[in-house]
Amino acid sequence: MSETAAPRTEQTIREPIIRIAQVEKSYGGVVALRGVSMDIGAGEVVVLIGPSGSGKSTLLRCVNHLEEPTAGVIQVDGHVMGYTLKRNVLRECNQSTLAAQRRSTGMVFQHFNLFEHRTAVENVMEGQISGLRETKAVASARARELLEMVGLAEKAGAYPSELSGGQQQRVAIARALATRPEVLLLDEPTSALDPELVGEVLDVISELARQGVTMMIATHEISFAEDVATTVCFMDKGVVVETGAPRDVIRNPSEERTARFLAHIGSARTADV
Ligand code: ADP
Repeated sequence: MSETAAPRTEQTIREPIIRIAQVEKSYGGVVALRGVSMDIGAGEVVVLIGPSGSGKSTLLRCVNHLEEPTAGVIQVDGHVMGYTLKRNVLRECNQSTLAAQRRSTGMVFQHFNLFEHRTAVENVMEGQISGLRETKAVASARARELLEMVGLAEKAGAYPSELSGGQQQRVAIARALATRPEVLLLDEPTSALDPELVGEVLDVISELARQGVTMMIATHEISFAEDVATTVCFMDKGVVVETGAPRDVIRNPSEERTARFLAHIGSARTADV
């Protein structure tokens, strides 16, 4: 090593948090992902954009093994999702190992998926108690901190039916963070919301990005993508067509398909107004 070489600190040799290698996914005859590869490092915010049906949701669901890839490998925090390594051979892992692997990711769904019969604070406590085996007192204290962070401290005792869609989604974000995941996966987190409620959820996600939370986000909110992403990935027909800094992919796309999609989504927005 030359004396002028940069020292190999823990930072410079750290593996990406997520490694996606040549992932394919078919549902029967429908091919949803065709050889998708990407690495995501700590603190990165990767925003997936692309037409409906392009494979964004499938990719996110493969990352936490809600869907099993047909081919390829996904590693999260050094673990091959869904598998354990035994004597140098990958074998499908059991449910409890998979549950532990899944805890390195927190998932936020389009339709919130909160437990209707539990209050906001109980929803946020749930994973800590069942997954991390925290005591109720510890789980409740953390849940209340997280609810405060998403601006809902005063709604801790409310049931989902008593909350707006935007508030429910903020509870869902707090719940996803409660088990201290390495990465947050957000699947069109504002698509089910009335337009006037979108901003409060995007503000929470933007704040998480500022705090350095690693995220993969599928969204149709292009200006939000431009603000918050470190990397934008344009997908179409199960392929990553173009990936790069937001100013390049959104402002100056190099692929015709990306430009066409952005023009289409732009004119659809203008027609809405
Ligand atoms: P996006 O999130 O970009 O809208 P999806 O990942 O939902 O795209 O879908 C990609 C393709 O996979 C589409 O053709 C969709 O119809 C298909 N698909 C997704 N989920 C399923 C499923 N559970 N069963 C069958 N086909 C599916």
